Amino acid sequence: MRAYDIILKKRNGETLNNEEVSFMVRGYTEGKIPDYQMAAFLMAIWFRKMTPQERAYLTLEMLNSGDKFDLSDIPGIKVDKHSTGGVGDGPSLALTPIVAAAGGVVPMMSGRGLGHTGGTLDKLESIPGYNVVLNEKQLKENLKKARCVIMGQSENVAPADKKMYALRDVTATVDSIDLISASIMSKKLAEGTDALVLDVKTGKGAFMQKLEDSIALAKSMVEIGINLGKKMFAYITDMNQPLGKAIGNSLEMIQAIETLKGKGPNDYKTLVITYSARMLIMADIVKNMEEGKKLAEKMISSGKALEYLAKMIEGHNGNPRVIEDYSLFPSASIKEDLLSPESGYIYDIDAYTIGVSAVILGAGRETMDSKIDYGVGFILHKKVGEKVEKGEPLLTIYANNEEKLKLAYQKILSAYKFCDEKPKIPPLIYGFVTEKGFTKEEIERPL
Ligand code: URA
Repeated sequence: MRAYDIILKKRNGETLNNEEVSFMVRGYTEGKIPDYQMAAFLMAIWFRKMTPQERAYLTLEMLNSGDKFDLSDIPGIKVDKHSTGGVGDGPSLALTPIVAAAGGVVPMMSGRGLGHTGGTLDKLESIPGYNVVLNEKQLKENLKKARCVIMGQSENVAPADKKMYALRDVTATVDSIDLISASIMSKKLAEGTDALVLDVKTGKGAFMQKLEDSIALAKSMVEIGINLGKKMFAYITDMNQPLGKAIGNSLEMIQAIETLKGKGPNDYKTLVITYSARMLIMADIVKNMEEGKKLAEKMISSGKALEYLAKMIEGHNGNPRVIEDYSLFPSASIKEDLLSPESGYIYDIDAYTIGVSAVILGAGRETMDSKIDYGVGFILHKKVGEKVEKGEPLLTIYANNEEKLKLAYQKILSAYKFCDEKPKIPPLIYGFVTEKGFTKEEIERPL
């Protein structure tokens, strides 16, 4: 077998068999196939796409490239949630302790920020001492003590994905339904979860900007999971404007804690409660969404979810005192308001531009080895559909560097569009995907 022939076959739009997919993934992971051939292969997949069968081969080969955790000795149905990535997209931080407090077991393996999107691990690392690296023994110990972890992809989990993802990032091959499905699902299958709730984002700040592409991505991941014996459920949610009010690592962590104290922004909280309820159904803890939502709310009002957050942070060697004392988080030395240049209704807050502006401030990485500034970011004061007067603050910029503040200020202004009449706000949730396909069930975005 030769890599050249397999690339040619895919380039010509033919279907690959298991041996051919395996030859490429294994060869690349072991260093026998060079970057330039894998890059050509990935681009051929991007243009020619894969059949569901080819996608399944690719996912399994990437999964089998490394360790798989066996959590069968931990009692209960293990349930996880994963988002395809967005801006202000931090519901995992709040829902994980809620589900654990309600009796669920959550072995969450998350990622770092990619491009303009934030990363759950980066947000958690704003907690002093929080260590995202756990081996299988530590993972199990933490699950026994706190019933939840949010950890990183350790060295030998889906190493094929690690290598291929780094190459995709620099060869314009990230936004492929086939490649995203295999990348996400290989990691989720390796962590040993029994059930998975997916949050597939759609809109300007998502990897898939069109609703039909997001639905296709959700269907692809649900099918892969179900074929491998997992319970699957995918929501399609809006990422045209940022979720919640905080963007940036410390700021989003504080927003999650505030939500667990009953004070979070309404759109963010709606997703947290909805996903928690769905996870509790999948873990066989409640029978329906109404019961699940009630139980999730109770975990917040009783303070039990906060207790589980503290336990989870302790399990990762972090300082749980951050829950009461936000001054322990890295902070910003400069706070500047962005004032509205006109009066009217906010028509758009482009999530992509806000995400890029956050990276400019230092909340994300410009290059692979950039150092994150955990204290910087934005707090939005107004969301799409709200009325503003000229000169009123639209958001507060948290910065640690005057130069970066200036650059971000100019960029962020271009994210806003205004109109005279109250605009139609895109729904928060468009619907969901199960093995039966897509069901449209719109949920409004509460202001
Ligand atoms: N997140 C992943 O883990 N992989 C992708 O390909 C895209 C988002």
